[in-house]
Amino acid sequence: MLQFVDRQQSYPDKRPADARAQDFREIADRYAREAAEDQSSRCSQCGVPYCSVHCPLHNHIPDWLRLTAEGRLREAYELSNMTSTMPEICGRICPQDRLCEGNCVIEFSGHGAVTIGSVEKYITDTAWAEGWVEPLQPGPDRGQSVAVIGAGPAGLSAAEYLRVGGYEVHVYDRHDRSGGLLTYGIPGFKLEKEVVMRRVDRLKDGGIHFHEGFAVGEDATLDELREKHDAILIATGVYKARDLKAPGSGHDGIVPALDFLIASNRKGFGDSVPEYDDGSLNAANRHVVVVGGGDTAMDCVRTAIRQGAKSVKCLYRRDRDNMPGSQREVANAEEEGVEFVWLSGPTAFEADENGGVTTLRGTRMKLGQPDASGRRAPEPDPEGDFTLEADLVIKALGFEAEDLPVLFGAEDLSVTRWGTLRIDHETMMTSLDGVFAAGDIVRGASLVVWAIRDGREVSEAMHRYLKMKKIIQKEAA
Ligand code: FAD
Ligand code: SF4
Ligand code: SF4
Repeated sequence: MLQFVDRQQSYPDKRPADARAQDFREIADRYAREAAEDQSSRCSQCGVPYCSVHCPLHNHIPDWLRLTAEGRLREAYELSNMTSTMPEICGRICPQDRLCEGNCVIEFSGHGAVTIGSVEKYITDTAWAEGWVEPLQPGPDRGQSVAVIGAGPAGLSAAEYLRVGGYEVHVYDRHDRSGGLLTYGIPGFKLEKEVVMRRVDRLKDGGIHFHEGFAVGEDATLDELREKHDAILIATGVYKARDLKAPGSGHDGIVPALDFLIASNRKGFGDSVPEYDDGSLNAANRHVVVVGGGDTAMDCVRTAIRQGAKSVKCLYRRDRDNMPGSQREVANAEEEGVEFVWLSGPTAFEADENGGVTTLRGTRMKLGQPDASGRRAPEPDPEGDFTLEADLVIKALGFEAEDLPVLFGAEDLSVTRWGTLRIDHETMMTSLDGVFAAGDIVRGASLVVWAIRDGREVSEAMHRYLKMKKIIQKEAA
């Protein structure tokens, strides 16, 4: 260990930008064994490991780095698996520069952080390849059943822990495939779909009942599910897209980001997608402008490149330093040919005689004083009007919670002023007895790793509730 002075930081090689822009495979190779051992040996085994402190799962990072450096990979996997239901997924898509790696002491000493995410991915990918990932073992049957609404990372993590705890678990999701945004939001070049599906299959094989294509609110009310199950978890994420308010924003060819990404991901699964085939949700041969500066916008611009757009621009109202998306993703997008138009916002859209968008009119922005989020607020520059050719405009302005009390026919379900579910942070229970909530529907749009952490915590809270419920029922009998 402690080799950070002699051994340079080295991430797995990325494929050349022009090659990776041709397909939806992940852009980086996996470490070879020697490289993983070398990179792990750079860790200085801190007494207080800030990497773990800043990992939402508090993964035992220095310990599994040491085991990897010593060639004890199976033990490294077992340790990594103890705190995470999806280590190979987090290794791929966590914004490590803001979490574990961004807080590595070696980064602060100017030597470049230990490449924690890439090692984490290597360890568990190897475990899958070697057959070390064991089938899910359900605990002794407790005779109680739970419903999980939403098969994203929060719901799936909770489902796994509850099944291991001996509960009968039913997962309901309105999509025809499980995985939530891991499956239909995040593109394959960040997270290949087989990586998600093998996790889902492991849960199915472990006896968790999946009800795919089942929309709560349409196929059943919340009360109907409460009658069938001893406890409920709502982990439905946030899906109400924020809209553009500029004149002309209703023209054809101005589309929501998630519709565009879902169509592309479905195509990747080999599904028939009429909106992709008829060109409405397909960037091929189009001048594409994506409005927004978060992870979703980054995924849209890079998807458009892969679909064969004529040009791809990302319009964002703040500058590079003040954008919410990961800097790594911006760099990847630039390498692949995306042009960033910083400090700019749309003011109007023009269309041709058939109603299809042709032009985006915009204005330059200046940064004013910091707003409530701590970032400097953009203000329009009256001198800065411009136009861009645009025959596909993708709106990636963020997501808010849907109106769940109305959707679920549950007026007593208490929400915050942002529409997210209000929970008691001790019990993780909503205003309804036995109904819990976790993930983005509580936090607002967040990260996969936080959803996994919430799934872990809510499963413990539900377990405490269900044990008490059983005692009360026994005493009453
Ligand atoms: P979700 O993953 O949203 O899952 C919720 C599930 O609930 C969905 O499957 C949905 O179909 C289902 N559902 C909703 N309503 C109902 C209903 N009424 N009935 C039945 N089922 C229902 N995070 C990262 O850490 N790294 C990234 O690189 C990253 N990239 C992202 C890219 C995009 C395009 C987006 C949109 C988000 C990205 N995120 C990323 C954020 C991350 O995906 C989310 O924070 C995370 O998936 C939230 O998990 P969740 O389980 O709470 O909800
Ligand atoms: Fe880093 Fe995410 Fe892995 Fe934690 S889960 S160690 S933050 S990559
Ligand atoms: Fe190792 Fe960096 Fe974590 Fe310290 S902060 S234990 S050097 S990975």
